[in-house]
Amino acid sequence: MANTAEHPRERFTDFTPYEMKAGEEYMSAEMLQHFKDLLMKWKQELMEEVDRTMHHMQEDAANYADPSDRATQEEEFSLELRTRDRERKLIKKIDKTIDRIDKDDYGFCDQCGVEIGIRRLEARPTATLCIDCKTLAEIRERQTGI
Ligand SMILES: [Zn+2]
Repeated sequence: MANTAEHPRERFTDFTPYEMKAGEEYMSAEMLQHFKDLLMKWKQELMEEVDRTMHHMQEDAANYADPSDRATQEEEFSLELRTRDRERKLIKKIDKTIDRIDKDDYGFCDQCGVEIGIRRLEARPTATLCIDCKTLAEIRERQTGI
């Protein structure tokens, strides 16, 4: 099946890893800015992706008159809609994260308060839990089957 729907970029890699200076405090103003830039660029990329999907669907809709083509197309459309839905949710999460950076409430675990860590945040800029709490949450999720 021709799958034209691309996965949203759940990871953003187009950045230079942050180098901490000697004596620099975790989540210094500069560090916060680094993550804010990263999140804005990621959001931009996702928004362009949503735009592309929209255009693609509009163009395609005009091209098919044959009912069997339309059935295939509908399948593709529902896939693209799901992808777009994921992208939208991710954009919302990014917005929330940027908001937290602006409030200087970023980089620490929501559960236990430890530093989440620069490298983990660069891999997952929207992370709100440290790796330990995240792992624990995932185990619980699996056990309760939610
Ligand atoms: Zn934690």
